[in-house]
Amino acid sequence: SKENGGNRITFYKSEDTDRMNRRIAIESGLRPALYQRQFHLSYQPIYRLGDGRLRGLEALIRWNHPELGVISPKEFIPIAEHSGLIIPIGEWVIRESCKMLARIRKYGLHDLRMSINISPLQLHDPSFMNTLLNVLEENRLEPSSIELEITEHYLFHSSETAVTALSRLRATGVRIALDDFGTGYSSFSNLKQLPIHCLKIDKSFIQKIDLQGAERHIVESIIGLVQKLGVEVIAEGVEYEGQYRLLKEWGCNYVQGYLLGTPMEPTMMDTSMFRRAAN
Ligand code: C2E
Ligand code: CA
Ligand code: CA
Ligand code: CA
Repeated sequence: SKENGGNRITFYKSEDTDRMNRRIAIESGLRPALYQRQFHLSYQPIYRLGDGRLRGLEALIRWNHPELGVISPKEFIPIAEHSGLIIPIGEWVIRESCKMLARIRKYGLHDLRMSINISPLQLHDPSFMNTLLNVLEENRLEPSSIELEITEHYLFHSSETAVTALSRLRATGVRIALDDFGTGYSSFSNLKQLPIHCLKIDKSFIQKIDLQGAERHIVESIIGLVQKLGVEVIAEGVEYEGQYRLLKEWGCNYVQGYLLGTPMEPTMMDTSMFRRAAN
């Protein structure tokens, strides 16, 4: 309790212990989760702003832990990176999402794209590119049908090898997107040197563009400048009509967010939605 200093110390200590126990439970639960199929993917639609057509889906990993319940990827992905398990987990994500894309494409959506989040550690894994190309071939998908999302924060702090790895991937036809743009330290001059096709403006900016703040001007300038470099722009975290209208006015290429569609469980994905989009 707060009246008693001694108890307070005990209170904080037990909180630390709880946090540590949770971390240990998550870390030791990752491997069984992978082999006992506790992970699944959910898919969020990305739409073209010009005509409202479905551009593709972003695969987002979900974990329903048998005791802890649903755990956010924001919590367990860093732990998986720390333990190295992100490599097999990331490979599972690629396999699963490519299988899904191949299935959906049967509805006539031949140019539908799958966006896949990639950890920097996967980029450094020497077998990554081979695994990726094999999975694509197994599913009869051309490399340009997938887009790897890598966070901005990592790329601008990374070694030459990351950019080299991206360039090699790009040469195979796989598309590259810079994720969470605006949260790191990038400038437009180093943006030019990156082998990217697409840039995703972080939702923390998008969520403020309909207010009277600096974000409005920042996002408008990003869209204009980036497109001059021949790079496409996706706005993520679009939640309100007003944000959508501004992005359209500024010529943003694509939008993603709760306004247009939340991440969907595969069983909830309505095949009629895909048939509609195919026409
Ligand atoms: P992210 O790549 O930036 O993904 C976007 C996150 O924003 C997702 O959270 C998505 O559900 C959420 N979101 C989508 N629309 C809206 C919106 O309109 N408003 C708000 N407030 N949020 C929106 P999620 O699924 O919890 O994923 C969190 C992060 O975990 C991802 O951020 C990504 O960095 C990481 N992640 C997710 N799946 C994977 C994966 O398969 N591999 C790796 N390496 N990381 C993943
Ligand atoms: Ca992403
Ligand atoms: Ca993002
Ligand atoms: Ca993120």
